[in-house]
Amino acid sequence: MKVIAAIDIGGTGIKFGILTPQGEILKKHKRESQSHLGGKVLMENAVLGLSEILADFDMNDVIGIGIGTAGQVDHKKGVISFASEIIPGYTGTDVKGIFEKKFNKPVFVENDVNTAILGEMWKGAGAGNDIVLGITVGTGIGGAIILNGEVFHGATGSAGEFGHAVIQRDGPSCTCGGNGCWELYGSSTALIRFTRELLKDNKDSLMWKKYIKTLDDVNAKNIFDAAKEGDELMLSCVEKFSENIAAGLVSLVHTFNPQVIIIGGGVSNEGAYLIDKIDRYVRERAMPSYLKCLSIKAAALGNDAGITGACKLVINGLGL
Ligand SMILES: [Zn+2]
Repeated sequence: MKVIAAIDIGGTGIKFGILTPQGEILKKHKRESQSHLGGKVLMENAVLGLSEILADFDMNDVIGIGIGTAGQVDHKKGVISFASEIIPGYTGTDVKGIFEKKFNKPVFVENDVNTAILGEMWKGAGAGNDIVLGITVGTGIGGAIILNGEVFHGATGSAGEFGHAVIQRDGPSCTCGGNGCWELYGSSTALIRFTRELLKDNKDSLMWKKYIKTLDDVNAKNIFDAAKEGDELMLSCVEKFSENIAAGLVSLVHTFNPQVIIIGGGVSNEGAYLIDKIDRYVRERAMPSYLKCLSIKAAALGNDAGITGACKLVINGLGL
C-alpha cells in the first residue's frame, strides 16, 4: 500500500504521521523538538523521528514527505526564510534539502499555520469546501488562505497575516510598526488586557471571588469559565472579544467571499459558546449575499491538523 510521511514541526514538539493518500492516519509518533538548542538539533530530531516511524514501512511504498513547520517558509525552495529566536539558528535552514538527501523522496515544506488549515479544509472543519480561510487566535492573530484547495502565498510568500489588518486607523501602536491592527483587539492577549482593566475597579466580580488573587492570574480560560457561570462583567468581556473578532472577519468575508472560516488557537476550545457569538456578530454586519454559503467553525482536527495538512501538501505537490 502506498503511504505518505507527514511531519508537524513546532516549538516544543514534533509530530509524525504515516497516512494513506486518502488522508487516513495509519500510525503516529512524537518527539520533543528541543528547539531551544537550535535549528540543527531540531532537524536531527525530525530526521530521527521520521526514521523511527518509517521502520515499520517499506520505503518503496513512501510516495513523498510533507512537512509543516514553525517559522516563515519559502515554500518553493523548502527553506526557512525567517524564524524568531525561539528556534535559534533556524533561519536559512534547507529543510527540503535535508530530508531529500536523507530519504531520497519528494519533499514539500510549508508554514505550520497554512499546513494545519489545509488539513482542516481537507478532512476537518472545512471538508467538502475549497475556498477556506483560517485564523488562529492566541498571542496574536495568524491566518491562512486556501483558494481552490491550495494555499495562497502572495507575491513573496507572506499572505494571510490577518492580525495586522488595520481596523482602527488611529489606534494604539503595534509590534509590526503600524497602528490599530486587528490583533490589538481580537487576540487572546487583547482579551486579557481589557479584562484586567475592568477588574481593577470591579472587585465584586466572580473572578476575584473564585478564580484570581492578582490581575496576573487572569487568562482566557478563567474569563470564559466565569462568563459561563453567569458573571455579568466577564460575559461583557467575552461579548466584546467576540465582536472584535467579528469586526475583522467581516472584512475578510467581503474580500474573499469564503465558504468556511475556521477558528483555531487556544480559544477555539470554547467551541460553540464562542463561535455562535462570533457568527451572530458577523451575520449582523456582513452583506446578506455573502452569508448564504458561509459557515464559521472551530478547528476540528486538534493535534492531527498538522500531519493531515502535511499529507495534503504531498498530494497537491505531486498533483495526485
Ligand atoms: Zn500590526
